[in-house]
Amino acid sequence: MNYKTVVFDLDGTLLNTLGDLTDAVNYAVSPLGVKPSTETEIRARVGNGAAKLLQRTLDANNTVGDIDECFKRFSEYYRGHMTCNTIPYDGIMHLLERLKHAGIKTAILTNKFDLAAKEIAKYYFGEFIDYTQGERADTPKKPAPDALFSIMEMFGSDKDSTLYIGDSTVDIQTAKNAGVKSIAVSWGYCDREHLKDASIIADRVYQLEDIIFGIDYKELESNFTKRGFGFKVFDTKEQATEYLVNQCEGKSVGFGGSKTLEQMGVYEKLKEKGIDAHWHWKNEPIYMDGEIYLTSANGLSKTGEIVNIDGTCNRVAATLYNTKRCFIVCGINKISRDLEDTIDRARNISAPLNAKRLNKKVPCVITGKCENCISPERICKAMVILMNPPTNMECEIVLINDNLGY
Ligand code: SF4
Repeated sequence: MNYKTVVFDLDGTLLNTLGDLTDAVNYAVSPLGVKPSTETEIRARVGNGAAKLLQRTLDANNTVGDIDECFKRFSEYYRGHMTCNTIPYDGIMHLLERLKHAGIKTAILTNKFDLAAKEIAKYYFGEFIDYTQGERADTPKKPAPDALFSIMEMFGSDKDSTLYIGDSTVDIQTAKNAGVKSIAVSWGYCDREHLKDASIIADRVYQLEDIIFGIDYKELESNFTKRGFGFKVFDTKEQATEYLVNQCEGKSVGFGGSKTLEQMGVYEKLKEKGIDAHWHWKNEPIYMDGEIYLTSANGLSKTGEIVNIDGTCNRVAATLYNTKRCFIVCGINKISRDLEDTIDRARNISAPLNAKRLNKKVPCVITGKCENCISPERICKAMVILMNPPTNMECEIVLINDNLGY
């Protein structure tokens, strides 16, 4: 995809502004006797501009107050303190530099008030952002697409050559309203489950680079095949499913628990074809004696390793022994830049989301990241890193150019 313009949201996307926002809100509402809010509380209230943030804070504290007066106090305080605790997320400066060098225009579109947005963008990003627009009286706020259309016009971009990146449902809706592709980032202020309407979800900044500049599939293939893994890439999950069904024809097939395979509907397609397929997610016993085993992984390292975390451990066990042919099916969202990041992804993204899905009473369900618990309910009882296919096993990666599973 060749993008001419990339438009970013600001708070929670480029910058972690929560500390300074929290201080400013607490300062603004303190004369009304409102108790200080925590960063977690403020995080849940941002996204629709400062006035809304202040109103939500008053509502949460059952307090009635003059919002214009609060807004005035907030603005004065924030403009004097907006760079105290604010920092760009890891990797953002590298991304912006790369965009600049590639000649791609960049803009910030935010519901933060315009003056503060422009000052803060200049302070942190300087020449790496070409234009910044915040909340202004003459333009409807996001999710209205008007400001995004103006930016596209300013840079001569159409819907296909513009990408919008943000961390909230307001951002996703803005992109939808403008008809442009969006990437939702999961490191910001909105919980991941609210982001599923985005075209793609990125969990790490370097994934934005992969999406914008493209994945080097040749390098990826080389790094996996030199270790002995098979490697195939498909544009769509339908094409990958058709390939898997063909490979499974006439064979007995077991499944590991996998949201990716569930989203692809592989089991149903095998059954339609009368193939001898077994999956414990479909009210069958765990089956590890087939000729083929289909599973996903929690992460694929660009350096050629495969990382999987498991609780019952049938899934990781089948990728280690007794399987003749194993297919590891992943969307490109599972690719991480090195082994360390892949393990980090498995522990801090996949495991907490799976723990939440399974209703486990473990701390990562609340915090969204691994807290290294020793709970009997922990879902990560084993972590397996496949460096090469196990002896006597054919192991092939089926990579799909889509966002699948977690
Ligand atoms: S060790 Fe505990 S906190 Fe960490 S991912 Fe596993 S279940 Fe969650």
